[in-house]
Amino acid sequence: MIRNASSSPPVVGVIGLGIMGEPMARNLLRAGFPLVVWNRTAARADALVADGAQRASSPREVAARAAVTITILSDTPDVAEVYRREPDGVLAAAAPGKVFVDMSTIAPRAARELAAEAAARGAALLDAPVSGGDVGAREGTLSIMVGGDADALARARPVLEALGTRITHVGSNGAGQVVKACNQIVVGLTLEALGEALVLGSKAGVDPRAIVEALGGGLAASRVLEVRGEQLLARDFAPGFKLDLHAKDLGIVLEEARELGVPLPGAALVAELFAAERERGRGDADNSTVVRALEALAEHEIPRVP
Ligand code: NAP
Repeated sequence: MIRNASSSPPVVGVIGLGIMGEPMARNLLRAGFPLVVWNRTAARADALVADGAQRASSPREVAARAAVTITILSDTPDVAEVYRREPDGVLAAAAPGKVFVDMSTIAPRAARELAAEAAARGAALLDAPVSGGDVGAREGTLSIMVGGDADALARARPVLEALGTRITHVGSNGAGQVVKACNQIVVGLTLEALGEALVLGSKAGVDPRAIVEALGGGLAASRVLEVRGEQLLARDFAPGFKLDLHAKDLGIVLEEARELGVPLPGAALVAELFAAERERGRGDADNSTVVRALEALAEHEIPRVP
């Protein structure tokens, strides 16, 4: 961590200790930041508290105690609630010098509105959604796309450097969420393409592992294939990134696209395949379960490769 030798690290808060938030909080502890945490389901904070984090009793308490407060929650209404709830939401502790960093994936418009509310109280709010999945969260190798004030980012940067290897300032408030929407188009379509390839190839009788290995060495190689290839071969659909959350993201993508008059036929197709999987009760499965929607269409299951 880069900091002045004479200064102690700032207190950092983390609100939301799910698949992403818990390992991110752990990386902050490991980097030496004093950590204050809050999670709606309190028991999910127990292991971190045992390892040295302090437990707060509300989002407001986290934000009051921390110089930099990170939120990493499910969806737009959840983030709005945690910031605005009375009397103990994050915004209740907003004051000059405070930096809030929302790393959840939410609608760009909501990100802009929350940032304006924080600014009205003298605080800065950055939208800083992430890509890299649960693996990137554990390894501290996330790509973080930041929208908002450059000075606030400069203050948050040492904290973000404990979480990710690429921190890109992509524009003003909301721009981080726009870039994350772009990211989710590419990840969704890549998974769908991978599913099509594996269904076709294996129905033709080729070993799925041979397909994955060959594709991984050529132009079809991708980080998605690298991270999810083995799990797909093992037919392991434990999340990872829940289908419900990626479906939520494609909702954000398509709403933004409608507002801007941008047709996105590929994203719309993936959203429909996700809807089919949700209908089968697989909303809590990994988003790679989209391959099972394609299997159903082809009446063919990709064989499990041990
Ligand atoms: P998750 O495992 O489902 O965790 C969600 C977290 O949000 C939990 O701590 C949950 O608390 C909290 N939460 C949800 N609604 C809440 C509310 N109304 N009030 C208070 N707390 C609430 O999800 P995740 O995978 O960590 O994802 C978190 C965010 O990161 C999402 O926006 C997702 O799109 C994004 N993201 C995820 C991945 C990934 O690979 N998983 C990758 C990039 C970005 P409880 O424990 O009480 O339920």
